[in-house]
Amino acid sequence: MAEIELRNVNKWFGALQVIKDVSLTVADREFVVFLGPSGCGKTTTLRAIAGLEDIGSGEILLDGKPIHDLRAPDRDIAFVFQNYALYPHFTVYENLAFPLRAVGTSKSEVDSTVKSVANSLGITHMLKTRPSALSGGDMQRVAIGRALVRRPKALLLDEPIGSLDAKMREQMRIELKRLHYENGSTSIYVTHDQVEAMSLADRIVVMHDGVLQQVGTPTEVYLHPANLFVAQFIGSPVMNITPTKITDAGGKAQINLDREQFELPGELLGQLQSKQAGNDLSLGVRPEGVLVSHDDQPGYRPVEAHIIQPFGGFDIVDLKIGDEVLRARTQSGFVPKPGTRVFARIDPSQAHFFDSTSGQSLDIRLGE
Ligand code: ATP
Repeated sequence: MAEIELRNVNKWFGALQVIKDVSLTVADREFVVFLGPSGCGKTTTLRAIAGLEDIGSGEILLDGKPIHDLRAPDRDIAFVFQNYALYPHFTVYENLAFPLRAVGTSKSEVDSTVKSVANSLGITHMLKTRPSALSGGDMQRVAIGRALVRRPKALLLDEPIGSLDAKMREQMRIELKRLHYENGSTSIYVTHDQVEAMSLADRIVVMHDGVLQQVGTPTEVYLHPANLFVAQFIGSPVMNITPTKITDAGGKAQINLDREQFELPGELLGQLQSKQAGNDLSLGVRPEGVLVSHDDQPGYRPVEAHIIQPFGGFDIVDLKIGDEVLRARTQSGFVPKPGTRVFARIDPSQAHFFDSTSGQSLDIRLGE
């Protein structure tokens, strides 16, 4: 059992507050990813949990017991760094054995644990090798192995695969997921890569400027972003966001984008009214929520294709609407070339509405 809880944690570096009133519970065996742009406080929060940084105020608990005053070695939490931090003169075996020998583990137990961890990481064949002869991916496997040998209550990983190339990162993502599935240790993983976060996390914690923006499953944060920051940080290509005015057009909601008017169901008007939302609105719609047709069907408006990005399985097409651009996801080759005139519609069930001033989602859901 290893539940990690942060209660109203604050942290300053001099006058700079880098963690702002963070409260969070990571459940036993859960894999949580801290996601956010560089400098938002992810690493500092992780280091504070591990005991590598003091906190200014608040509490950190492991299984209900306060640990924020304990030294790092007494917290039973392992930390994996991005730069591996292996001992270059030791073999892989000795690197893995080191944390066990440091606490006086018997020779036979060291041997069986090292071999079992090496086996689960697929590095048995390199136990006699020194780190300098390993690839980046293998070095990180050893670093993770070294964190696992003491069977810590929790595993904290700070951008562990950030320095690997794209192909190796993809492979390591799958291995990390398998490892977690098999070992199930409570894990917190830091990254600024949203694809990594989406693919690994049970829950994602989106951070910005030291503040938790949203905590949810990958699907929740993708489908129901709590604010404009999360909406634009999660998803690639990013969600289309545009300031908009909504008017009542004979019971239908009419959205004005530059010179074009798109229709949405009339229930939007009632929902906006009940949320007392004023005119200061932003419409958000992901590229897959912009529907494109070659024919002028009801509800579709004429638009002109501009930049087309082929991704193999699909295309991302910029549609010009006056000075505005709506980015749509289409079947590969659906729009043959820039300048093609097509028709577009906004899928109401994929439309998001935000208060432009506060950035908060109005949490409006429309049917198709
Ligand atoms: P990155 O992905 O770049 O590591 P991050 O989200 O992990 O970013 P942190 O490393 O936690 O962010 O840094 C948060 C803020 O605290 C940044 O403004 C950083 O410059 C500052 N900071 C981090 N460590 C220290 C330190 N030891 N002394 C002073 N300021 C620091």
